[in-house]
Amino acid sequence: MSQLLDGKLVSAKVLDRVAAEVAGMPQPPTLAVILVGDDPASQVYVGNKKKACERVGIVSQEHLLPADAGQAKLLALVNALNQDKNVHGILCQLPLPKGFDYDEQALCRAVSPAKDVDVFHPENVGKLMQGEPELLPCTPAGALELLDDAGIDLAGKHVVVIGRSNIVGKPMAMLALQRNATVTICHSRTKNLSAITRQADVLVAAVGRLHFVTADMVKDGAVVVDVGINRLEGRKVRGDVDFDAVAPKCSWITPVPGGVGPMTISVLMKNTLAAAKLQRRK
Ligand code: NAD
Repeated sequence: MSQLLDGKLVSAKVLDRVAAEVAGMPQPPTLAVILVGDDPASQVYVGNKKKACERVGIVSQEHLLPADAGQAKLLALVNALNQDKNVHGILCQLPLPKGFDYDEQALCRAVSPAKDVDVFHPENVGKLMQGEPELLPCTPAGALELLDDAGIDLAGKHVVVIGRSNIVGKPMAMLALQRNATVTICHSRTKNLSAITRQADVLVAAVGRLHFVTADMVKDGAVVVDVGINRLEGRKVRGDVDFDAVAPKCSWITPVPGGVGPMTISVLMKNTLAAAKLQRRK
C-alpha cells in the first residue's frame, strides 16, 4: 500500500517557514487580489488566500470589480497596483466572469513581472524556461514541495505529465527538468497514453477529468501526483486519479482533497515574500 503525500501537513510547514521570515521583516509584504464579479467558487478561493495571508502575517488587499467592469477598468486597476510601492504581489482571480470581454495575454502582460506572484508574465515564464526562476509557478512548485518533503529525488527518474496547460502541465515539466528528471508531456492528442504512463516513475495528472487515471495506467511502485480538481454534487471534490484503485499499486500518492490543492496557496505566500524581498533589494 502506498504512503500519502499529505498536502495539509506539508503546506502547514511551508506556511510556518514563511511566517517566521515575515515576522523578522521591518514591514510585512502586501498581496493585492483582484476579484471580478461574484462567482461563489472564486469568492471561496479569494477567502482562502486571505486566510493564508492572515496566518503568515502578509497584508492582504481585496479589490472587487463588478462583472461588467470591462478590460479598460481592470487594466487601470492593475496599473495602479503596479505603481503602488506598498504592494508586492498582484493576483487576478481567474477565470474572469463568463462574457467578460478581455485579452488573456494582455492581462498576463499587464502585471509587473516583479509582482507577478502567479508567474503568468512571459518574462517570468522565460526565466523559468531558462532554469532561473525568481518566482515559482504555484501549483507545480507546490507539487514539488510535496515530493521534497517525502525525500523523493527526481534526478534520473522518468516523470510523465498528463496535461500541457500554461498553468500546470508545462511549468510542471520545466520544474521536473530542472531537477534532472527525464520528462514526457502527454496531452489530448497523445497516442497510446497508457503505454507512456506505465513507464512513469513519477506520474503527474493535470487533466481535469474525474478518475481519468486508472490502475492499468500506473507502474507498480510509481509516485502519483494528482493535480486535478473535479467537483461532484454538493461541495465534494475528487481528483483525476481513481485513488482507490491506484493507491494500492504505488509507493506514494496525493489525495484529493488535501494533496496538491493546499500546496498552491502556500507557494503563493512564498512567492509574495520572495517578491517583496526582491523589490526591496532593487
Ligand atoms: P486545462 O483544461 O487547461 O488542461 C487540461 C490538459 O489536459 C490539456 O493540456 C489537455 O491536452 C489534457 N487532456 C485533456 N484530455 C486528455 C486526454 N484524453 N488525454 C491526455 N490529456 C488530455 O486544465 P489545467 O488548468 O491544466 O488544470 C488541470 C486540472 O488541474 C483541473 O482539474 C484543474 O481544476 C486542476 N488544477 C488544480 C490546481 C490546484 O491547486 N490543485 C491548480 C490549477 C489547476
